Amino acid sequence: MTIVAEDDAIQIERLELGPFGTNAYVLICRRTRDGALIDAPAEPKIIMDRLKNITPRYIFLTHNHIDHIGALARLRAELKVPLAAHAADTGNLTPPPEILLNEGDVLWLGELEFTILHTPGHTPGSLCFRVGRYLLSGDTIFPGGPGKTSSSDDFRQIIKSITKKIFVLPDDTRIYPGHGDSTVLRKEKDEFAVFVSRPHARDLHGDVLWLET
Ligand SMILES: [Zn+2]
Ligand SMILES: [Zn+2]
Repeated sequence: MTIVAEDDAIQIERLELGPFGTNAYVLICRRTRDGALIDAPAEPKIIMDRLKNITPRYIFLTHNHIDHIGALARLRAELKVPLAAHAADTGNLTPPPEILLNEGDVLWLGELEFTILHTPGHTPGSLCFRVGRYLLSGDTIFPGGPGKTSSSDDFRQIIKSITKKIFVLPDDTRIYPGHGDSTVLRKEKDEFAVFVSRPHARDLHGDVLWLET
């Protein structure tokens, strides 16, 4: 477990779990000790352990890929807190999520205000969760590039999600992705500017890096 952010209001912990090193995040309102789990990759015991001293209120799902939901059934059974996800990413979730999230929705965790961004591209129902200057981005954006896409249409869509919904946030927004380390919005915007300044194949998709593609 690594504490990746901490201020007066919030603490964010990162747990890297399972064979794909997928990140789960535990977000805690420091004033009320209410907590939310973002994604449930694997190793439910380790996750449960991190929730012991707080009051879990939600499980948020960034998207429904298998490496993000391996521990979900077990955690839902044990925690009995609502699962919140986007309707387009629920096909493999039983029972269906208790809360369906849409673009612009706002949820409170203790005194923390969460804004929901619907950022399709990696999956149709991909979500990012914004709390102040922190953005939990799932597999939509990583340090150096967007999440993986499986067609050129999906690629165009993820670029639209990133430019219209993420790059409009303050430059010092800290981004916490579904795999690997965090990054800062300004750096990603700068690298994206290099990417758009160069010509690209019309069918570009897959694993793309701003500076190398
Ligand atoms: Zn994914
Ligand atoms: Zn992933």
